[in-house]
Amino acid sequence: MPLYYAVDIGGTKVEVAIGNERGELLDKKRVPTPNLGHDDAVLDGVADLLRSLARPGDVAGIGIACPGPLDAAQGRVLNPSNLPGWHQLPISEGLSKRLGGLPCYLENDATAAGMGEWRWGAGAGTRNMVYITVSTGIGAGIIAENQVVRGVGDNAGELGHVVVDPAGRPCHCGNRGCLETKASGTAIGREGERRRGESPRLSATEGPVTSVDVFRAYEAGDPVAAEVVEGAAHWLAWAFGTLTNLFNPERIVVGGGVSENGETLLAPVREKMVPYAMGDLLASVQLVEAKLGGDVGVLGALAVAVDRAGRVPG
Ligand SMILES: [Zn+2]
Repeated sequence: MPLYYAVDIGGTKVEVAIGNERGELLDKKRVPTPNLGHDDAVLDGVADLLRSLARPGDVAGIGIACPGPLDAAQGRVLNPSNLPGWHQLPISEGLSKRLGGLPCYLENDATAAGMGEWRWGAGAGTRNMVYITVSTGIGAGIIAENQVVRGVGDNAGELGHVVVDPAGRPCHCGNRGCLETKASGTAIGREGERRRGESPRLSATEGPVTSVDVFRAYEAGDPVAAEVVEGAAHWLAWAFGTLTNLFNPERIVVGGGVSENGETLLAPVREKMVPYAMGDLLASVQLVEAKLGGDVGVLGALAVAVDRAGRVPG
């Protein structure tokens, strides 16, 4: 069975792994994200990390999951806001050249994570599913009729930057009032911080209030935290209801840090979806928590490699 390298690039860490088409990871490592602003140094670092993995067989390709926007066809990172030292990095060509010409496939991180959940996680067995990550940002990976939806520039699924309030808060993408300014972990923490004075529980927080603090206070019955969570849940329900009407998915799989609150988050979202989706479509969609946990990044990148290397002749 061929093996594949998986590379998951994030704003704070780069994680690499080696695995097979059954989603088994044989070795993995992580390092803080190098932000050197020097292409060769970044590429040399990632290539060395891959070479350092235990390699019990031949490697057939490399899958890379990276925050967008990307030019996946050219294998180039464009200008993700949280990766300042990686802008315009020709990552596919650079890694391929350093690793004996191995084919290299770049994918948006939310799409990759969706592919991992579809192949080996909470979306397994479906033909139509949407994966949504709710973390510091919000992103989506869409599977329609057993096909990954990538769009013309491979940047489909930018759910977090769907504008819900054009007069709202400026977003780092350049627009205003994007969904992620309302319902991401960052937004939930920021709203909790704004309202901390109204809540003895939130005001007792050391340092700025985070989404973790808000959920903890909510579970303890804090009414201000409840309003913050319900406010975010409302916008997620709007988004999931809209996706339900657009794609008629069998499952919506929710991952990312905020989803670790499980039913505490999903139960109010499910309830609030009712006015935002058509009855028959809503009745056929399950809203579930992701299954791959902390390995979703590398398993997503592995799924990209398995999917693309298995399909491209030669
Ligand atoms: Zn935005």
